[in-house]
This record gives sequence, C-alpha cells and structure tokens, in this order.
Amino acid sequence: GASARDERTLHVVHMAAEMAPIAKVGGLGDVVTGLARACIERGHAVEVMLPYYESLPDEGIQDLQHSRDLECPKGKVWDGVFQRGSLKTSAFRGKIDGIPVVLLRPDWGVCNIFRGGAIYGGAYNELEAYLYFSRACLEYLRVEGKNPDIIHAHEWQLSAIPMLYWEVYHSTGMGRPRVVLTIHNMDNSGECRQDEFAFAGLPGDAFATVDRALDERTIGHNPERLCLMKGGIVYSNVVTTVSPTYAKEALEGGAAGWLRATLAKPEVSSKFKGVLNGIDTALWDPAKDPLIAAPFSADQLDGKALCKRYLQQGLGLDITPDKPIVACITRLVPQKGIHLIRHSIYRTVELGGQFVLLGSGHADGDFRALAEGEFRDSKDVKIMVMYSEALAHQIYAAADIVLVPSLFEPCGLTQLVGMRYGAIPVVRSTGGLADTVTDVDADPRNGNGYCFGGMDAGALNSALDRALTTFREDKSRWQQLSQQNMSLDWSWQRSATSYIELYNQVQPAA
Ligand code: ADP
Repeated sequence: GASARDERTLHVVHMAAEMAPIAKVGGLGDVVTGLARACIERGHAVEVMLPYYESLPDEGIQDLQHSRDLECPKGKVWDGVFQRGSLKTSAFRGKIDGIPVVLLRPDWGVCNIFRGGAIYGGAYNELEAYLYFSRACLEYLRVEGKNPDIIHAHEWQLSAIPMLYWEVYHSTGMGRPRVVLTIHNMDNSGECRQDEFAFAGLPGDAFATVDRALDERTIGHNPERLCLMKGGIVYSNVVTTVSPTYAKEALEGGAAGWLRATLAKPEVSSKFKGVLNGIDTALWDPAKDPLIAAPFSADQLDGKALCKRYLQQGLGLDITPDKPIVACITRLVPQKGIHLIRHSIYRTVELGGQFVLLGSGHADGDFRALAEGEFRDSKDVKIMVMYSEALAHQIYAAADIVLVPSLFEPCGLTQLVGMRYGAIPVVRSTGGLADTVTDVDADPRNGNGYCFGGMDAGALNSALDRALTTFREDKSRWQQLSQQNMSLDWSWQRSATSYIELYNQVQPAA
C-alpha cells in the first residue's frame, strides 16, 4: 500500500506459533502476517520468529538459509531437583510472503519437537515444545547480539516470553526490549505444572506466587500449578486482545474465566487493550486473487457471478444465480457454535438456499457423517471436513452470505474476509463480531449484515431468515449491501496505528 512511513523506526520481533499462509491453522496466523506487513510498510524493521515445523513446505520460504546453531538452555526436574541441560538448536533465516522470518528447530536426533505432518498434534508434548521454543527465541536474540525495541509475543504458547525476558534476559545485555503480549483466545491459557516449567531452562518455583503465575484455581488443593497466560499478563508491559468487545467481556463477563481476577487488577487493566484485528488485504484481494476463477471488485461485480457458477459446478451443486450460497469456513470447535451451524444447513435448504461448509478439526458434530450420508448427492449442500486455503478463497468469492454463529469470538476474521469478497455476514453478536457487524434492520444506514443474540435455533433463524428473504425479494438492496461491504476498510492500517502507539508508549525514545 501507499502508506506513510512513521517518523520513528522501531525494531519489532514477533514470536508466534503460526504465520499465514504456510504455517496457519486459524486467525492467529493471519494476524501475525497482517500486522507484520502493515508495520513493515510504514518503515519499521519487523521479523517473525516461528518454529521450523517439519510440515512447513520449503518452497513457501524465500531466500532460506542456515543462520547459526546454538545451545538452548533446557532443564528437567528429577527426584524433585532441577537439572540443567541444553538442546542443540538450528536457526534459519528467510522470508515468508516477503516478511523476514527466523525459523528454529531442535536436533531431531534427540527429540521429536515440531515433527509431524501438521502444525499441531505431532507426537511430542506441546507444552514442552513451546516452552523450549520460547527460550530458544530469546537465546537466539542474545547470541546474535540483538536488542530490539519490542518483543511481541502471541498467545499461551509464547506467554513464557515476558516471564523469561524480565527474569533472565533483561539483565544479561539485552536491556532494550519491552514486551507486548497479544491474547487471541482465552480458551486455552497454558496450564503448566511447576516442574514442567523447567522445559524453559529455569525452575518454575520462582513464579509460583499469587502475584506471579500461580494458577489461582488450584490454591488449596494443588499449589504447584502455574498458568503461562497469567504469568505472561503479569510480566508484559502491554497486554492486548483482538477486539474491544472481547476485552470488555474478559473484564466484565466470563470470557477470561478465572483470569478475570488478574486482568481486573488496576495495574493490569490499565495496560490491557482490545485492538481490533484487520485482514491482510494483500492475501485477501478479490481483484488480484490468483486462487479464484475470475477477479472482481465493488464496481466490477461480474467476476463474482462467475466465481459462484464455478464453485457450484465444482462442488456438484445446482448451477443457478438465484439460490443464495450460505458459506461457513471454520475450525470445528465448540466455540464456533457447532449446533447452530448444523441447524443452519437445514434452515438454509428449507428457505431455498445452498449451504457450503469448509470445516477443519475434530468436534465435528457428525459433519463427516452428514457429508457422506444424508447430503452425499445433495444439489444444495456441500460439507467438506478439511483444511484448504485454495477452497477457502473460492468459497469466499462465491458466497452471498458468510455465517458466523460463534458462542464466543475474540475477533473473527471470516466475516471480514467475507465482506471484502462481497458477502453479507450473518453473525451472533459477541466479541469482535459485535464490533464489526451492525444489523441492517436495526441501523439501515450503517448496517452491513444480520445479527442475532441468543444461542438457540430460533435466534439464528431470526437473522438468517431476514437475510435469505432480502436476497430473494430485494435484489437491488442486496447488491447495494454487497458493494458497500466490499468498500469497507478492514485493512491493517488502522489497527497497526494502535499497535505502533502502544509500542511507542512502552519503549522510551533512544
Ligand atoms: P479462529 O482463529 O478461531 O480459527 P478466525 O475467524 O479468527 O477464527 O480465523 C479463521 C481463519 O482461518 C480465516 O482466515 C479462515 O479463512 C481460516 N480457516 C478456518 N477454517 C478453515 C478451513 N477449514 N480451511 C481453510 N481455511 C480455514
């Protein structure tokens, strides 16, 4: 983009478990890539540190080269005694989608960390793997003599970063960095026994107090349990989550669970901010998307009709512009409102539409059985239980409606991508969905979709029925909404500004 460069150049190092497009499972990967790119475009020096998973396709990494080997401190507790050790680690440099990355992998002669055919779920202990990775990231910066302005850690996997940085690294020559932690989802807060923390090369007992990382649920019966996310929150200079409403739900509702007590402390709530995610408009651009059948834009919509036709044909659906395609692209986990997704398949067909589900994961609500049974030969329903970046693009491009009936949703990206591709969102008003979708009937001027509040089928119908009726009965209104949604700016520009402000607030001038 033609964005202005910021006056002060910051050196920012992200540390994360995912990065789009080649190391992505969900929104976390999108956010890391989108935010990094937006900051680079404004003149900042940004790098992303990522596990070098065995599953990463090397052809997706440009200029890949070996950087150095290092000995990463790593310990274990044996008979109640902390024993120091280390794990040989190889660091590589390269670029993913043009963004500089450092990839770390351990010696696979002695462990299986990050091996396997997918990002998560390999035959190794995830807690051990990410504690090791957290330590390895900081150790790499130290041996390279780097002293960035900001270390930006993401999610429970990297929540040990602020703890390790302020307890170990800050005083060993790397004094400059301030640490930002972004929480993408509070569902998993990284539970950790004190002895397991040793995987990070440091005994865990230093953190086992209520004002540090002690898991407060366990006081009284299990006093040695830690919570990485709590430790990360306590030790970070700034804590963000991915939408203002989710931040509010964490402080005032149940979104953070027992972590609410930590977040609500005055010294924490004053450094806790909800910053709405953007989408990477380079990866998600209907006018230039190489993965879709025909390009289109708000003032050139013919391509979208072609994309719809192409998808209907490819999936064996009735080929017709008259049936609205309701699309749902999601990880299949309880958070996403599995029973509402299931119900909406039937409701859509009842009301003359077509339903396309692209879902990945396990809590699959019998979707596989539906795909192979009841809907196997359906001309109106296609259920695909798999992860496919290419299919996702093609479905967004073809969709008339993008459905997001989440029970909770920290931000949600599929409604934003859907709008950029000319679809109308139907969402449950929670978290980031409430921040990004306004009901067209409640607010005809600013409305951009259809919202509901409850968790039952009736609540969903109240929104889905109105959307399908408008599609059928008011074509010009529908097209106007579609064009208007395509022109909305969900780019990272605005959110990057917020992050850069936060970076500048915590990192005093050189
Ligand atoms: P979450 O981070 O909880 O998974 P988000 O809505 O924030 O939810 O982000 C989901 C991202 O993952 C979007 O980019 C979406 O297109 C993508 N995605 C989800 N499921 C699939 C799938 N089965 N195949 C391809 N892409 C998917």
